[in-house]
Amino acid sequence: MKIAILPGDGIGPEIIAQAVKVLKVLDLPLEMETALVGGAGYAAHGHPLPESTLKLAKQADAVLFGAVGDWQYDSLERSLRPEQAILGLRKNLNLFANLRPAILYPELAGASTLKPEIVSGLDILIIRELTGDIYFGKPRGVRVATDGEFVGDREGFDTMRYAESEIRRIAHVAFQAAGKRSKRLTSVDKANVLETFQFWKDILIDVHNEYPDITLEHMYVDNAAMQLIRAPKKFDVIVTGNMFGDILSDAAAMLTGSIGMLPSASLDAKNKGLYEPSHGSAPDIAGKGIANPLATILSAAMMLRYTFSLPQEADRIEAAVKKVLASGLRTADIHVEGTTRVGTEEMGNAVVQMLN
Ligand code: NAD
Repeated sequence: MKIAILPGDGIGPEIIAQAVKVLKVLDLPLEMETALVGGAGYAAHGHPLPESTLKLAKQADAVLFGAVGDWQYDSLERSLRPEQAILGLRKNLNLFANLRPAILYPELAGASTLKPEIVSGLDILIIRELTGDIYFGKPRGVRVATDGEFVGDREGFDTMRYAESEIRRIAHVAFQAAGKRSKRLTSVDKANVLETFQFWKDILIDVHNEYPDITLEHMYVDNAAMQLIRAPKKFDVIVTGNMFGDILSDAAAMLTGSIGMLPSASLDAKNKGLYEPSHGSAPDIAGKGIANPLATILSAAMMLRYTFSLPQEADRIEAAVKKVLASGLRTADIHVEGTTRVGTEEMGNAVVQMLN
């Protein structure tokens, strides 16, 4: 069980240190090796994804990733910017399935902009296809229109496309994830308008034959956006394409109101994965010891669940996080009156203590 530890920039090293501490107390035969990535990779090796880092990530069974990005690198040409590291890892490791849980612990219900009764206890999983769709489809560009009302005018264009095998593999990930939860899957599409998503729907229905114990429902993306805000707890697992997933997963994340709490996983076909918090490198608070490490600790729990098939150990970490929140400890981002404000390290230590 080899893990590549890539702390990155900003608060990355601070939050990763807490997750590593938590993994170590579980007493599992984990082999961890650390490498530079993002701005830190560029500063040391002249590239945000140094060759040695990519090699380590390829060799490892899982990657635990902090965050990348810092204002001091904003003037670099695009291919050398820290954020390219994460795109390079996704592409090189074939991480096509992005799993983003949106969980709102009842203790944090006040952090959401929605009424507590709508969101308290929310626990949904959004599965976004990550390497296809209109974001990667070709051709794309700017050209002179050769037909239609605006013939002769310049036009921007992109191509939405999904291959059958691409849809099948994300569908399998989604049905299997639903099987580990409440056995309900909602496939979000725009089959009423887009050929690509009528095809998506047809393939989902076909793959469903292999999972007769799962209930499959289809929803148009506009309705899904509405239902996510109106009654988010009605969902359990949502699967959708790259673009719809990009938008819906951010909306779902914000239902919880606390970006420092949300983990994520990006998986390949063999459940090798890259695990990272949903937030960025927060350069505004880096080095102050106040960042919330819980999203990263919960990402480590996802790693145990999805890559190493250790659900009980994952449950243990998640239960420890719940207990810490119930005990009233809060980092600055989730602090409210009547709770105890703690720093990054104290929060990590509290999770470790609850595990012992
Ligand atoms: P951000 O998520 O880093 O920060 C947004 C706000 O949330 C900031 O006020 C920050 O202080 C706060 N915040 C984020 N994580 C927190 C935590 N764990 N605890 C407490 N507060 C937290 O987004 P941004 O400011 O737009 O971007 C900063 C840098 O991060 C940029 O360079 C961006 O490109 C990069 N970024 C990287 C990733 C990634 O590594 N996957 C993702 C998003 C953004």
